[in-house]
Amino acid sequence: MSIKENLLSIKEALPPHVTLVAVSKTKPVSDLMEAYDAGQRIFGENKIQEMTDKHEQMPKDIEWHMIGHVQTNKVKYMAPFVSLVHGVDSLKLLKEINKQAKKNNRVINCLLQMHIAEEDTKFGLYEAELNEILESDEFKQMENIKVAGLMGMATFTDSEHQIEKEFSYLKGIFDRLQEHPEKSNFKPETLSMGMSGDYKLAISCGSTMIRVGSSIFGSRH
Ligand SMILES: *Cc1c(COP(=O)(O)O)cnc(C)c1O
Repeated sequence: MSIKENLLSIKEALPPHVTLVAVSKTKPVSDLMEAYDAGQRIFGENKIQEMTDKHEQMPKDIEWHMIGHVQTNKVKYMAPFVSLVHGVDSLKLLKEINKQAKKNNRVINCLLQMHIAEEDTKFGLYEAELNEILESDEFKQMENIKVAGLMGMATFTDSEHQIEKEFSYLKGIFDRLQEHPEKSNFKPETLSMGMSGDYKLAISCGSTMIRVGSSIFGSRH
């Protein structure tokens, strides 16, 4: 099947409250343009340099999502245009995003990445650390970011049961977030979970945003 056919068949089956991020990392601009021409406007990349290059070459009505781990010293390159940063996992990084957003006179939407997988190689916060960030005076004073929700990645495993357990755990944290008072920089509406192999399960567990790469663009080398 073509990129267009893959994309349309995934979109067709999505409930209306679920947003599709087309994960285009490593793929050439011509592949992204095929998805763009089929109506896709949200693309996810995991390297800032690659995202910045593609942003320069492509139409300006695209929303660029940074889904990878972000190094503090590279935030400045994406700050002028990035629309959502999925992988924020420290107060330090949030502070840098706030600072660079301010320089660009804008507000940058962020998702806090939670540690839900069994593997300890995966990045992410524990719930106590999440609450510590949200309750800190530093966070309360940040005016150029908005925490729009949470992101998580399940363990790389064939066990559906395991993945479901981790997604449900993340949904539980997301639900408890709703009890924190809403502020101008805190509106938890988005739960980013699910990739090519597990997005249907993620949706059944409450995901509102899925990040799908290989099922649209084919496998990466
Ligand atoms: C690469 C990547 C995806 C997409 O993975 P696929 O299995 O190709 O759908 C989703 N989320 C993150 C954080 C990624 O790095």
